[in-house]
Amino acid sequence: MTQYDVLVAGGGPAGMSAAMQSAAAGAKTLLVERGSMLGGTTNAAGVNFPGIFHAWGRQIIKGYGWKLVADCVAHSGGKLPDFSTPPERHWMHQVRVDRSLYTLLCDEHVTRTGAEVLFHAMPAKVEALPEGWHVTLCDKIGLQEIQACCLVDCTGDANLVALAGGALLDDGPDKQPGTYVCKASGYDVSKLDMEKINAAFREALARGEVTAHDAGWDVNAPAASRWLRQHGENANHIPGIDGRDSRGRTQMELAGRKAILRMYRFLRQQPGLENLKIEFLAPQCGVRETVRIDGDIMITADDFISGRVWPDALCCSFYPIDLHTADGSGLKKIDLEPGIVPTVPRRALLPKNLKRIAVGGRCVSSDRDANSALRVQASAMAMGQAAGAMAALSAGQGIDMRDLPLTDIRALLEAHDAIVP
Ligand SMILES: Cc1cc2nc3c(=O)[nH]c(=O)nc-3n(C[C@H](O)[C@H](O)[C@H](O)COP(=O)(O)OP(=O)(O)OC[C@H]3O[C@@H](n4cnc5c(N)ncnc54)[C@H](O)[C@@H]3O)c2cc1C
Repeated sequence: MTQYDVLVAGGGPAGMSAAMQSAAAGAKTLLVERGSMLGGTTNAAGVNFPGIFHAWGRQIIKGYGWKLVADCVAHSGGKLPDFSTPPERHWMHQVRVDRSLYTLLCDEHVTRTGAEVLFHAMPAKVEALPEGWHVTLCDKIGLQEIQACCLVDCTGDANLVALAGGALLDDGPDKQPGTYVCKASGYDVSKLDMEKINAAFREALARGEVTAHDAGWDVNAPAASRWLRQHGENANHIPGIDGRDSRGRTQMELAGRKAILRMYRFLRQQPGLENLKIEFLAPQCGVRETVRIDGDIMITADDFISGRVWPDALCCSFYPIDLHTADGSGLKKIDLEPGIVPTVPRRALLPKNLKRIAVGGRCVSSDRDANSALRVQASAMAMGQAAGAMAALSAGQGIDMRDLPLTDIRALLEAHDAIVP
């Protein structure tokens, strides 16, 4: 049986940062990813615009995630946005990365820290030991047993915490819709008669050939124009999904791809769109919401909006409250007031009543509105790095993450270029 200091589950923005920080701190680290590549939602779901690393003219998130993103922009000859002043719209400070290059660089950045990566595997069973954890992994040829002093759950869906018996926060079946990203080409937007196409879209809707969600976020204003202007991208909503388990995910993948096929069939019949093609289809549907852990503390929307600086803060987060409504009416958005920079406390990364396990990323202990902001990629990276630092220190010192002196965690993070509030 192989023994590790730290096992990280999930190789998205949070899990990569956790594994890089843990391995770079000297812990023997295994990163288990159920898919075939690192990057998580950024590349597997095609959401290749990580953010937000800057607020009010200064950088508030750095560390391993930022290094990777900045390296990708530099490698591709791209240009970072001008971060010196607040943008007109928040998303203008997101950093667009080349999907293919990003995937290649994720491998390089993670493996060079010494972290071991295992693709095509996921935890099936988790048992507590007096000094750590016994984990059964399901890999391609069967079950594999390993032991680890500490666990870090970066699955986005708190899969590892659930297997370890941890409590979860779940707001019921009305989750935020998913989005299936694609990229369409073969037409010139400036030559399209949008009014005519939108009228045809409404007729197709009445005939049941398309749904309003297929082409936009607001079902009260059905139109194909947003989809066409964005060339697909994240214009659709896939409603009524539960992305927590494989059955729910399967329904979601099928529904998402059906939506794109419906759009393809409809659009190809419209003037100017005869040669439309789908040149990129994300490997999977993007999931905005499933469950969060019930942690030692829950970050509320009030905490987030007021920019609460927690006494045990380990990193910053920055994004508007950005809740895609389950009823199809669009978006609930609350911008942060000038100067506000929310923080994430250690306690929100620790599941109640469990020792030697932390989370990073989307499943951070938070209420629904706060989570709609905390979940974004830069914040996930910062939380992942904080969780990786705690896990490495906890494994090294043989004590629970709660008992680590905050000064030790913060010093380790700062030594690895993270920004601690
Ligand atoms: C449509 C859409 C648009 C978005 N827009 C933006 C945006 O503009 N900017 C932004 O910054 N963020 C955006 N986000 C949010 C952001 O992409 C995610 O919330 C973020 O990637 C979360 O990071 P994570 O590491 O927690 O989880 P994920 O990115 O979901 O990564 C989780 C990883 O864990 C793996 N995994 C899952 N379960 C297991 C398991 N049981 N065992 C092993 N591996 C497992 C997955 O394969 C994946 O690689 C968007 C999300 C969506 C869906």
